[in-house]
Amino acid sequence: MVVEVQDLVAGARRGEARAVARLISLVEDESPQLREVSAALAPHTGNAHVVGITGPPGVGKSTSTSALVGALRRVDKRVGVLAVDPTSPFSGGALLGDRVRMQDHATDDGVYIRSMASRGHLGGLAGAAPQALRVLDAAGCDVVIVETVGVGQSEVEIAGLADTTLVLLAPGMGDGIQALKAGILEIGDVFVVNKADRDGAATTRREIRGVVAARDSDWKPPIVLTVATTGEGVDDVVAAIDQHREHLAGGELDRRRLARARREIEALALGALRRRMGDVTGDARLGSLAADVLAGRSDPFTAADTLVERL
Ligand code: GDP
Repeated sequence: MVVEVQDLVAGARRGEARAVARLISLVEDESPQLREVSAALAPHTGNAHVVGITGPPGVGKSTSTSALVGALRRVDKRVGVLAVDPTSPFSGGALLGDRVRMQDHATDDGVYIRSMASRGHLGGLAGAAPQALRVLDAAGCDVVIVETVGVGQSEVEIAGLADTTLVLLAPGMGDGIQALKAGILEIGDVFVVNKADRDGAATTRREIRGVVAARDSDWKPPIVLTVATTGEGVDDVVAAIDQHREHLAGGELDRRRLARARREIEALALGALRRRMGDVTGDARLGSLAADVLAGRSDPFTAADTLVERL
């Protein structure tokens, strides 16, 4: 279906939730109009502060996201939430309803909430999520929270999307902090020890402090204790995000966003190349190259060069 992209972008900029939702659907469905959408959004982006939330399953990411939205609304920020599941081919409302405890905000017109599955889309999380972020950014969100729903490499990938990465942990995580994958401790700009109503929060904080103290950087990540279910400590998280934002303004923000743009371009370019590869591999000539390799008339390197030359 052909939609008037300019009208949708204008609608999104006026804060119309339906227009925002339609635009994100165009992104998610890899609409042929996606290029037009991306071009129309471009002049209106760059204002939103992107906050990534990651952490082991069950630590309280969904609950914290909802509490954070509440805290940001109280200081009058417009907020977007993008719940990304990089491992799922499914998308849409069902996942969101299950995962993000957002009912409190469902009727607030200062909040856009969207879930998104990115497997197979535009080169995965790196390709599709930034487009959706641009929609929320252009729609006037002051803060966009990106929450990963799946587990795995997405934890680290999310840091590539965010201006500020929140790493959520909780007390009593088995063998503790040392057992965590190294990556997740490296990417945190702000650490949150959630479930601070349970025993061991102070120990967990101490362990995190031990790890981040060794970092060679002029930003020392704050470690905030929260109880997401009651909202305790969540204002401190907002304050820590603001602090990090001020720190970024010294040049680091541009550096991060440039790196993000590079990855985004690269992901799209690789996607385009892969599609062309697909066209070529459907080509009977690949069959003849393979036959040449098998018969010893050619070798795989030479054959691959021939293939690349045809792209
Ligand atoms: P996620 O998998 O990281 O998104 O975690 P959820 O937000 O779904 O939370 C997992 C469970 O922990 C739910 O039952 C929450 O109610 C509970 N929970 C979240 N935050 C807290 C907290 O601060 N204290 C306690 N005791 N439970 C919490």
